[in-house]
Amino acid sequence: MGKKRIAVFGSTGSIGTQTLEVIEANPDKFEVEALSAHSNDKLLVEQALKFNPNVVVVTDENKYETVKQALSGTDIKVYAGTKSLVEVAVMDTYDVLVAAIVGFAGLHSTLAAVEQGKTVALANKETLVVAGDIVMAAAARTGAKLIPVDSEHSAIFQCLVGEPWSQVEKVILTASGGPFRGKKPNFLINVKKAHALQHPNWSMGAKITIDSATLMNKGLEMIEAKWLFGMDNDQIEVIVHPQSIIHSMVQFTDGSMKAQMGLPDMKVPIQYALTFPGRIPSDFKRVDFRNYEQLTFEQPDVKTFRNLALAKDAMYKGGNAPCVMNAANEAVVAAFLDNRIGFLEMSDIIEKCLEKIDFIEKPSLHDYELSDIAAREYADTMIPKSRY
Ligand code: NAD
Ligand code: MG
Repeated sequence: MGKKRIAVFGSTGSIGTQTLEVIEANPDKFEVEALSAHSNDKLLVEQALKFNPNVVVVTDENKYETVKQALSGTDIKVYAGTKSLVEVAVMDTYDVLVAAIVGFAGLHSTLAAVEQGKTVALANKETLVVAGDIVMAAAARTGAKLIPVDSEHSAIFQCLVGEPWSQVEKVILTASGGPFRGKKPNFLINVKKAHALQHPNWSMGAKITIDSATLMNKGLEMIEAKWLFGMDNDQIEVIVHPQSIIHSMVQFTDGSMKAQMGLPDMKVPIQYALTFPGRIPSDFKRVDFRNYEQLTFEQPDVKTFRNLALAKDAMYKGGNAPCVMNAANEAVVAAFLDNRIGFLEMSDIIEKCLEKIDFIEKPSLHDYELSDIAAREYADTMIPKSRY
């Protein structure tokens, strides 16, 4: 069999760079067909020169000339702008799209690939949070395969191999609890960006690291699991497991439970998504249970970490509620990272957006786009312009 041709969207990010590490370690299995980045032109050019793709997309058009110039001695095609992502996503020159753009910005290209019946290794969970119904319906229509990269969903997916999905009783997503596990609002009110960016077990992009600290990440993942595995809301549970060894679990109707385990290393689910349904050897570090006196579990504190409760409510409400919540969350995380609002204010603003923005029960893609904009605009009215 020839090499799998991989397109990596968001190649300069945490997932993107780790995907390229997996590809680099297996040059006989994979080759890079396309890369995309938003504004990190330097790294994008470096990656392009190293992996020699056919196409690179730089979505920040201001960076186009620099990238074009730097790659002028090669035959790599350089495209600019968000629309180019969609053009590349529908090309038949690649086998697997690794969707590793962060946020709503990843929706259109991922959906375009799904509508084209492509295989998508999905890291960009926001795509399913915003428009899971539309994306999954398109996948059912075209036969596109969505293979999860998110570690919890990869764990569930791996537990489900060879199993009848109809015999799943529930899925249990594990959460590390983030850097502020056990803390209360009187502590969180003073939390600053630098502190929140220090995750105990995982090294990730800034947005998801803040989402992990607020537990919004687990809320997004509940909604992601709902769509990906066709679960009812009541079939999705979250449990805090600080050691991050069990990446998630599936309980079947006969009461039997499966868990997928390993050290926290995103390269494991990334590689699995690229090799599915097979596996290939790796030299990733192995778990040694002798290093763990105990694996522990606790109930998430949704009174303190209100984002998880808000996300769960939005999941049950359905319609455009998860889309509104996601947009508000992207706005408040950016504002928190910019020192304009505090840690606890993030939940307050998201809640107000969910109250304010008109509910739509059966949104079209255009409704989702408008809900996204409306929620961001409303969130902005509550975010101070100046830094504290
Ligand atoms: P990151 O911030 O490290 O990287 C994001 C990538 O997206 C970069 O290449 C950036 O250039 C690109 N990008 C940013 N804004 C863009 C825009 N407006 N248009 C086009 N491209 C844009 O993020 P990450 O941590 O790698 O996460 C990527 C996705 O994977 C997120 O949806 C995240 O939730 C998910 N995920 C990440 C991890 C992890 O360990 N990092 C784990 C599970 C899921
Ligand atoms: Mg995850």
